[in-house]
Formats: sequence, structure tokens, C-alpha cells
Amino acid sequence: MVRKITTKKYEYEGKPIIYGLPFEELEEWFIANDEKKFRAQQLWDWLYRKRVNQFSDMSNLSKSLIEKLETTFDFPILNEKVKQQSVDGTRKFLFELSDGLLIETVLMPQDYGLSICVTTQVGCNIGCTFCASGIIAKQRDLTAGEIVAQIMHVQKTLDHLGNQERVSHVVVMGIGEPFDNYDNLIKFLSIINSDKGLAIGARHITVSTSGLAPKIIEFADNGLQVNLALSLHAPDNDTRSKIMKINRRFPIEVVMEAIDTYIKKTNRRVTFEYIMLNEVNDSVEQAQQLVKLLENKKHLAYVNLIPYNKVQEHHQYERSTKERVVAFYDVLKKNRINANVRKEFGHDIQAACGQLRSSQLAKEKRKRDAIIQTSQPRDQVSVTIFEQSSIH
Ligand code: SAH
Ligand code: SF4
Repeated sequence: MVRKITTKKYEYEGKPIIYGLPFEELEEWFIANDEKKFRAQQLWDWLYRKRVNQFSDMSNLSKSLIEKLETTFDFPILNEKVKQQSVDGTRKFLFELSDGLLIETVLMPQDYGLSICVTTQVGCNIGCTFCASGIIAKQRDLTAGEIVAQIMHVQKTLDHLGNQERVSHVVVMGIGEPFDNYDNLIKFLSIINSDKGLAIGARHITVSTSGLAPKIIEFADNGLQVNLALSLHAPDNDTRSKIMKINRRFPIEVVMEAIDTYIKKTNRRVTFEYIMLNEVNDSVEQAQQLVKLLENKKHLAYVNLIPYNKVQEHHQYERSTKERVVAFYDVLKKNRINANVRKEFGHDIQAACGQLRSSQLAKEKRKRDAIIQTSQPRDQVSVTIFEQSSIH
């Protein structure tokens, strides 16, 4: 029997987080509260340019306005539980949210700037069989403010170091399926993209999806010039359904049709992510099938071959051997498909999506189990463990 953790008790119940308000909504709030509209820009300067941590630091706002803000909004609580730094400069943060749930955020130094990978949900219901994030069912969606807060926390950490470094790129590739939290995702994107605040260029932002076809089509119409990446990982339905159960709901032909619609509407390039799993999806025949699949959109397709980061719980998978990666890549190149083998980040600190969180949860579970085993009869123990580690 498979039981899901009920989401209700985990719903965010605090005041709205100030980072979660798009500029126009904030202006409306000021007007509704008998304040001048231009105060919205002053507030955003404090939030995103001077980057203060409390309303009382906003010295050009009146005392009464500060009080109003304090009673209406919260600054987010992201309690930094673990921070790790890899030899390659990748930094990984494990945060505890105000309700005690854990998420993670990764900062990666690239040739072109500093890129941050943000989380959109606590857990993930898609449950891909290679991924650490999908091991635990989604406990709740993050609010737009909590997603922005991840960037702000990391940016403030950089500010403290005093090297004038700026988070310049954002990839929505952390824990969760962003299109399963669509409204908060769009809100988040519009907030970080706004030139009145963080002003992160749309072309510097990439959203990755496991392939929720209707949302891919909707995304084409959102008006932002944000990049899209599709986690394809296999060119045939048999293999894809085995490793990504979402493929049973939206099989390859349906997802690719949605991608075609997206390309027709936006004329933007799409990245196809492809994790190389040894002897699962990495044969020369599968490379040829991939070429066929992308044949009609060669000029706007880009394949990212990703080295698999081994996840303890998914021992059935190994990363592809170098020879198999090279052979696969060669087929793509010979057929003039744009492709590269993705540089790996933070291998020494478990930087793949959800890995740090799942190992932290396992650690906490081991601790809890030890306590339970010394204090409860055996039949109760199994129930408790089952609830803590329920999967879908
Ligand atoms: N849910 C979205 C975005 C988050 S996952 C999606 O699936 O696209 C971001 C990327 O990390 C996806 O391409 C996913 O397949 C990949 N990924 C997940 N686990 C991985 C692992 N163990 N090693 C390498 N890449 C992984
Ligand atoms: Fe969810 Fe993406 Fe992980 Fe699949 S790969 S379980 S969609 S986070």
C-alpha cells in the first residue's frame, strides 16, 4: 500500500511574504492603503537593491507605513541548515522553511556569470525513477515569495563576502516540477525579471519541465522571453515510461507536439535534457531515434547530455561509460544536432536535484528511528517509519 503525506497540515499559513508581490500588485496595495504609488519603487529599492532584512531599516518610509507593512507582510524565514562548498566553487544551501520543511538551492559559477538553481516545491509528485527529489511525494508548493527568497538569501550571502558578485542567471531546476506550481512560477519569473527590482534578464532564466504538455503550450503565451528546457531522457515511449512515469500521461508524441506549438509561437530555442544512464537510454540506436525526433526542429533544438549523479535510493542506475557517451554524442553531431555534454557541478557535494535534502532527511530519519526503537514497541515502529518515508 502506498500512502501519501497529507498536504493540508503543511500549507503555508503565515502572512504573505513581501518578496512574493509583483510590482503592480504592490502599487495597488499602496493605493488601497492611502499611500502614494511611488512608494512601491522605494520599497523595491530597499528590497532588491539595498537588500535590507526588515521594514524598520527603510529610512525614507514613515513610521506608520512601516507599521502597516509589518502587520501585513512577512520577510521570509529561510533558516540555513547546511551550506556546502565544492572544490569547483559550487555552493549548496539546505534551507528550512518557516513550517520546518526542507528545500535546497545551488549556486554555480559559470564562464558567463553566477547561476542559481531554485526549488519550486517541497518534494515532487512526478516521481522519476532516477531522481532524489521524487522519492518523497510533494508536501506543498512553494509560494512565489519563497522562490524569490532563495535568490535573495544567496545574493545577500555574496554581498557579505564583499566581492561585488551578482547572481546573473537562474535555472528553475531544483526540487519540484515548476509547471505543477504554475501560477507561483509565473509570478516568481515576473518579479525577478522586472527592471524595477532584480532585473534578471529573461534570456538568463531557464525553466525545466518533465513534460506537462498543456502547460508547455500555456507557457508559450506568458509574454516573458524565458528559456524552456524539456527533460526528455529517452527517445522512445517504452524507455521513457520506465524512467519517467509522467510519460504514461503525456507520451513523447504529445509532448513533442506541445514543443512544436511552443516553437511556432515563440520561435525560441528549446533545450532537451538527456541524462546518460548506462545501458538504459544511451545506445547508438537510441541516439539515432533522438535524431529522428528532433529532425524537424534541428535549428532550434539543443541537446544537453547530462552525467548522471548517482542517487543512493536508485541503485538500478549507473552513469554511462565514457565510451557510450562519446558514441551517443557522435551520432548527434554527425546528424548536425546541436549537443554538448554538460559540465558537472559539485559532484563532491551531491549537487544534483534533491540529493542534499534526501540525505539530510535520511539522516534525521535514522536519528528518529533510533529514538523510536528505544521507546516504542515494534508494531508501532513500522507505522511511524512508514509515514515518515512514504513514497508514491
Ligand atoms: N522537474 C523538472 C525540474 C527539476 S529537475 C524537470 O524534471 O525537468 C532538473 C533536471 O535535473 C532534470 O532534467 C532532471 O531530469 C535532472 N536530474 C534529476 N536527478 C538527476 C540526477 N540524479 N543526476 C543528474 N540529473 C538529474
Ligand atoms: Fe520531479 Fe524533475 Fe525529479 Fe522528475 S526529475 S522527480 S519531475 S524533480
